[in-house]
Amino acid sequence: MTPAAPLVYLVGAGPGDPGLITRRGIECLAAADVVVYDYLAAPELLRHAPAGAERIYVGKRAGDHTLSQAEINRLLVERARAGNTVVRLKGGDPFVFGRGGEEAEALADAGIAFEVVPGVTSAVAAPAYAGIPLSHRRLTATIAFVTGHEDPDKPESGIDWAALACGIGTLVFFMGVKTLPAIASALIGHGRDPQTPAAVVHWGTTPRQRTVTGTLADIAERARQAGVRPPALVVVGEVVRLRERLNWFERRPLFGRRIVVTRAREQVSDLARRLSALGAECLETPAIRIAPPEDFGPLDEAIAALAATDWVVFTSVNGVDFFFDRLEAAGRDARALAGVKAAAIGPATAARLKSRGGIRSDLVPETFRAEAVVEAFRREPLAGRVVLLPRAAGARPVLPRELAAMGAVVREVEAYRTLPEPTDPAELIARLEERAVDLITFTSSSTVTHFLDLLPPARREALLAGVPCACIGPITAETARRAGLAVAVEAPRYTIEGLVAAILAWAA
Ligand code: SAH
Repeated sequence: MTPAAPLVYLVGAGPGDPGLITRRGIECLAAADVVVYDYLAAPELLRHAPAGAERIYVGKRAGDHTLSQAEINRLLVERARAGNTVVRLKGGDPFVFGRGGEEAEALADAGIAFEVVPGVTSAVAAPAYAGIPLSHRRLTATIAFVTGHEDPDKPESGIDWAALACGIGTLVFFMGVKTLPAIASALIGHGRDPQTPAAVVHWGTTPRQRTVTGTLADIAERARQAGVRPPALVVVGEVVRLRERLNWFERRPLFGRRIVVTRAREQVSDLARRLSALGAECLETPAIRIAPPEDFGPLDEAIAALAATDWVVFTSVNGVDFFFDRLEAAGRDARALAGVKAAAIGPATAARLKSRGGIRSDLVPETFRAEAVVEAFRREPLAGRVVLLPRAAGARPVLPRELAAMGAVVREVEAYRTLPEPTDPAELIARLEERAVDLITFTSSSTVTHFLDLLPPARREALLAGVPCACIGPITAETARRAGLAVAVEAPRYTIEGLVAAILAWAA
């Protein structure tokens, strides 16, 4: 950002789904020294801010006014005056019932430059995710956004209820959970048909979304029975009928399933993204992390000796990455593998070999485990051939043992290590206590063991009792079973795609 750039960005975070922030919003976060956010802004979005940026939570959940509005205004001014680039991250759109206008006024009064980055307001997004188009050519030509804070019985109510009841097609009420009975009766009292369809959307666009539908006459009672709590929006109008056919989000195959993902941080998002796209709510609890070997010496020596090597067998994406990192560190490139054959344990590893090194695998087994690699090698002349195996420390011994038994000269070198990740288990434990975990995914034996280590030993069994888990293949499943876990899903194809497909079949 140039020195003349605004000091404070009032950024709309979107309605909850972290994918619904704007590009401009992400750019601002990436440049932030300070991020001031509240509970409606998706916490995942904070990842876009630099690691060293100050993150200040200012609450704003009903009843939890961590900071008052005046204090927030002062905080923005003070941090900006100290020369920081400040992002004020606000749920939905900053200028739609978010008091962003007041914050901008405070900045203007203080002579501080600011920029407003509009966001997708929940008033539009939550109905969209509930399958309710706010306008429809056949049904309505007008839409109103109304704050439901106001008690319609108050004589000084600033809302023209008669105009709303009879003059507007679709009504969207913010913050209307407590006042819903009063809102419904005010609309009916001012002439709106009691049979008008109505919906309440709770935590719209998130995996926690819940929608209750009814009519103006009964929506308050239905919402009460369903125990709907804030944040929620109330939608009133004929368009609510369309939900029956257009409810695309809540019908996703994994919608509402709460799934723990235990892969390494570098890889967790791929699996989590796929599961989320199918509607699952993912709790990312990386149990392992991928680290360089203690000593690169053996790998470097093996790379120096590639000219005298017949095969390189890659057993993971990480193995490919560390191998090529060291190759490049030595000032060399994929040509060092000219004349060397390459094997990959599965399609993901083969794909990385192709993208990273431009190398097509000469051998990829039918099923993706060490035993299958051994089987595939039975068709290859191995006697006296030098086979390099760059892989994780502590990997299963079957591959080097069997290849050696076929006459190969096996050079197993440590290319990386799988270490426990010191993830804070507080949220995981809280969810397990609430029985709010439907499935735990494991993508390797090390994720199983290190995941278990995250839990206090004395409580492990109770916390995990009856919680099903999904394993990427038989080895992982065996480790999980031996640890006393309930394996409900075992992927027949030992890939992330295979795991996702097996989870889908389980959910169905
Ligand atoms: N500026 C925000 C609104 C802030 S007022 C926006 O544009 O969306 C806070 C109210 O917004 C909540 O009480 C609730 O009525 C509504 N709201 C915000 N996010 C929501 C969500 N994900 N689902 C349902 N309602 C939401």
